[in-house]
Amino acid sequence: INIAIDGYSSCGKSTLAKAIAKELNYIYIGSGAMYRAMTLYALQHGFVTPEGNVNEPEFVASLDLVMINFKYNTDTLKYETFLNGQNVEREIRTLQVSNNVSPVSAIKEVRLKLVRLQKRMAESKGVVMDGRDIGTVVLPDAELKLFMTADPAIRAKRRFEELKAMGVDA
Ligand code: C5P
Repeated sequence: INIAIDGYSSCGKSTLAKAIAKELNYIYIGSGAMYRAMTLYALQHGFVTPEGNVNEPEFVASLDLVMINFKYNTDTLKYETFLNGQNVEREIRTLQVSNNVSPVSAIKEVRLKLVRLQKRMAESKGVVMDGRDIGTVVLPDAELKLFMTADPAIRAKRRFEELKAMGVDA
């Protein structure tokens, strides 16, 4: 089956999804990491100005050059995100990426590309996917759908600790 996990940010969607994937030997796909990797690509290639404006026409024209996938690291026992063959698991969690991911994710062509990719990744089933549009847009027919929420204070604490663990001054 496919398992779709939706919900608000910092509620533990990916923590739960990864734990399920590990337990069931399923493939974990974090859609947020894919939008973050897209944002990192846009930042690395100067498609986002320091003021946070996206040069949409040029960025959209280069979308075919962006490859995103996940690999399971048998040393850390974690799924890691790869952008054009490079492990970017750390870079996509920085504040700079977090601050720019929203406008990048709002670009129609970005969503079309990532949703298509996510649907393809789930074709053979055995996938756990998390993100806020997974149960509605990406996997509307998922056999199991979960929606997660949490107290805002807990959500803030989770994000704060995630940043702190990476040495980010938050
Ligand atoms: O889940 P995470 O916080 O890593 O997601 C990063 C951002 O990517 C979200 O804040 C949102 O702007 C975008 N996103 C999205 N659609 C998804 C997953 C994430 O637009 N399915």
